[in-house]
Amino acid sequence: MQRTMPVPDEKAPEYHQNLRADIVTFIGPSPKALVHSREWKKIMVGDPVEINPSVGHGFKIMTVDEWSGRWKRNDDFPDCLACASKNTKEHHFNQTWCRGLKKWESELLCLDCHMFSWRSYADPDFLAPEEYEKLKWSKMLEEQAEKEAKEKEILP
Ligand SMILES: [Zn+2]
Repeated sequence: MQRTMPVPDEKAPEYHQNLRADIVTFIGPSPKALVHSREWKKIMVGDPVEINPSVGHGFKIMTVDEWSGRWKRNDDFPDCLACASKNTKEHHFNQTWCRGLKKWESELLCLDCHMFSWRSYADPDFLAPEEYEKLKWSKMLEEQAEKEAKEKEILP
């Protein structure tokens, strides 16, 4: 049978695919990511925390389930690293891409054991965009200096 439908473009790689280094992991009773770490301390001692501005305003004493109610599970990495439960929610995620290389961080809260599971990854040659720019500039300046030095040599 002949294919009449156009072949779809190959899907762009995602952050969790083609990993070329180990994922760094960390398990802790409080978040490693700065975000939510102050609120977590309050939740743990039963102090009121700020209500999400999209649902109300003010402060409220919340259970862990209530507080994390709006977070979603990351189905790429659903497992709690402490107890292997998949009853988790991701509270922190970011990824940076630079010239096809990637770096990312993810942290989950386990609703069963209340431990945080951190995962972070960087491709072996990853440079942040600003590091890459800096490197490019210093290389250019170096080349320029070399060129000028050579020109001086040539001059009588
Ligand atoms: Zn757990």
